[in-house]
Amino acid sequence: MDSSADWVSTPPSSRRHFLKTVSRGVGGAALASAAGPLAGQAAGRSRPSVGVALVGLGNYATGQLGPALRETSICELTGIVTGTPAKADTWTQKYDIPESNVYDYETFDQVADNPDIDVIYVVLPNGMHAEYTIRAAEAGKHVICEKPMATSVAECRSMIDACEKNDCKLSLGYRLQFTPHHQRVMKLGQDETFGSVTAMQNGFGFHIPDSATGQPHIQWRLNKEMAGGGALVDVGIYAIQAGRYVTGEEPVAVTAQEYTTRPDIFDEVDETVFFQLEFPGGARMNGSTSYNASFNRLYATTSDGWFELRPAYGYGGLQGRTHRGAMDLSNVNQQAQQMDAFGRCILDDRTSRVAGIEGLRDLQIIEAIYASIAAGGQRVEVPGGA
Ligand code: NAD
Repeated sequence: MDSSADWVSTPPSSRRHFLKTVSRGVGGAALASAAGPLAGQAAGRSRPSVGVALVGLGNYATGQLGPALRETSICELTGIVTGTPAKADTWTQKYDIPESNVYDYETFDQVADNPDIDVIYVVLPNGMHAEYTIRAAEAGKHVICEKPMATSVAECRSMIDACEKNDCKLSLGYRLQFTPHHQRVMKLGQDETFGSVTAMQNGFGFHIPDSATGQPHIQWRLNKEMAGGGALVDVGIYAIQAGRYVTGEEPVAVTAQEYTTRPDIFDEVDETVFFQLEFPGGARMNGSTSYNASFNRLYATTSDGWFELRPAYGYGGLQGRTHRGAMDLSNVNQQAQQMDAFGRCILDDRTSRVAGIEGLRDLQIIEAIYASIAAGGQRVEVPGGA
């Protein structure tokens, strides 16, 4: 993990003050020389800003990312990519996006010539992440790619390579790493505040009703090629992430079990998976994920106590406790924090704390979990040296 990352996010009011300061004074020039042409200046924007184009205007883009881009201090929604003209009309009106910044999947590569767009945010079905990340990098744009990064480790490697080759930054949609709650448990675990972590129970799952399986955003999630897997890749990945950043270690081996209560629906992807991760320092994690059962908890027991987040993984309402009492922390707009953090990385020419390597490591663990399931629950080592 990137241990140099800030533990606590800067409050929005301080960030606004900082931006106003740098846009007027020498700070702006300093940023410009550190990161090449100042993002936003070429497009004639009035402040140092990072223009973001969302690719795929489905549930997450519509319900979370679009609204969050009204709350950001650094990032601005400047473009969209959609195959549906009616959505283009709605979004251009709602977010005041010029027609010249609207693309479809055929014209997508022309973003290369658009100085309004600094970042392509890929919010497509998982099976399309690699193609659009690589095309964005080849168009010379920085990229945020939603989780899971891709459907295989091999795809992750090709995405990282394309971004490196084109000198573009790559970040992932791991919104929780930008919350005070998850930053607190990272610190409690990695600093061994209550002694070393000995065991964790991390689970995230929810119920997909039979009646929802015809909805477009569920349909592709049940298709192996488009989703890459089931509950594990969709929401179990958060539990894996948490295990990694609470311990600050990479798991060395896994065992896993899968079962389905609805084999007619879950004939391609997993419905429920239980998995166990072994960390090199001795900690063990029991992970759970499901499309049929509700789990939403991060729990760590340590040599001198315990700490937990419950609920742990939603867009808001996170709550934390330790054996000493409640954590007094505010909930934040997770997506706004995540995008602004990447905007700062671009302006300051830094690597994202959730860079491509983080997604690749999660996919290595996911592939090991699926290998264990295929081998009847046998212990499978996770490849090291990503
Ligand atoms: P969705 O189905 O609602 O949206 C997908 C979009 O892709 C739609 O606009 C759809 O029209 C478009 N699309 C283009 N080509 C398509 C094709 N061939 N098949 C299907 N759709 C196609 O899905 P979503 O829930 O918005 O998820 C999109 C991505 O965002 C996924 O990778 C998902 O894992 C991720 N996501 C992340 C979070 C988070 O908290 N970080 C939350 C939800 C979703």
